[in-house]
Amino acid sequence: MKLLLATNNKAKLRELQFILADLPIELLTPADLGLTLEVDEDGSTYAENAAKKALAFAKASGLTCLADDSGLEVDVLNGAPGLYSARYGPPPSPPIFEKNGGSVPKGRGGFTDADRRQYLLQNLANQPRPWTARFRATVAVAGPEGGVDWAEGICEGQIIPEERGTGGFGYDPIFLLDGLTQTMAELPEEIKNRLSHRARAVQAARPILMKLLGG
Ligand code: IMP
Repeated sequence: MKLLLATNNKAKLRELQFILADLPIELLTPADLGLTLEVDEDGSTYAENAAKKALAFAKASGLTCLADDSGLEVDVLNGAPGLYSARYGPPPSPPIFEKNGGSVPKGRGGFTDADRRQYLLQNLANQPRPWTARFRATVAVAGPEGGVDWAEGICEGQIIPEERGTGGFGYDPIFLLDGLTQTMAELPEEIKNRLSHRARAVQAARPILMKLLGG
């Protein structure tokens, strides 16, 4: 039984490989198959984007595929950056409250993850704390015949004004998990991989996977 992890993000790949390691299936990456597929993430929901990625990779590979779409939602910013977490940044990027704004390419503006964290902190600077927030992930599992199913995972916490830790990626150094004293970037990798929104979404997706994979 084979499952293609439909993402080009190396940090996510490592995380998904860890989370799914105990299943009796062969995990493949796009690189294993020589697949270089760029999917336009222009959907208006995480579920739409995750399905688009999973279906595109399933069609290209003939395999069952798992993809995720995820983002950080900050309450005082009305849920921003949300769907736009990967392309958040100062103008001329899309306005931070723009939702469902169409096909703005990811990575626009050439900002790094550190730039995005600084920009988020600038936007929060005048807001009262705590800056409650959550990471949300939707995992889509698609079969080569076109069937698709979803599961969601959420990780609650708050944004803090200083960076802490060097692990993880994206907004991890400024995201403090509820009930813990560490940021996501301070947690050992195997702990983040158990607590993360993606881990929770994949956990919820296990019955879907087992059914699709015939077990
Ligand atoms: P996408 O799922 O590829 O659209 O990317 C979502 C974006 O949300 C990433 O580029 C990060 O900025 C942010 N993000 C998603 N998951 C995480 C995480 O586990 N830690 C930190 N940032 C994340």
